[in-house]
Amino acid sequence: MRGLTDYRIAKRALVSQVTRGAVPVEDVCDAHPELLRAARNVGLVARRGCPICRLADDRALVPRDDTDTLRLVTYVFGTDLRRKSGHVVWTREELADLASAHRSFTAYVVECCLVCGWNHLVESYLLGQAHAG
Ligand SMILES: [Zn+2]
Repeated sequence: MRGLTDYRIAKRALVSQVTRGAVPVEDVCDAHPELLRAARNVGLVARRGCPICRLADDRALVPRDDTDTLRLVTYVFGTDLRRKSGHVVWTREELADLASAHRSFTAYVVECCLVCGWNHLVESYLLGQAHAG
């Protein structure tokens, strides 16, 4: 994917800070209600556990519940998108349609936990006619 930026290292660093108590849990579990709603309604199941719920489970010595609570939400930003800039993309088809109809924009994928409100940027990449092929 063009212009792909992976934010996993930043995520790992942040989770490690939370583990050490350097960053309060409430600072990283602050998902905006709009993001939570998008995650619940149109988010794709991330197929991995929430790092913050996992911490809590480890501390409480309860079995891990790595089900489908971590969701991926894709936002698109770019001047070419005009009023659609900043919108949540509902399906892969919608994303493909936007890519074929616009010259250039950036997609941001955010993971969001439905249980604790953890949210973090996963990756961003460029889409559009200028980046096709
Ligand atoms: Zn969580």
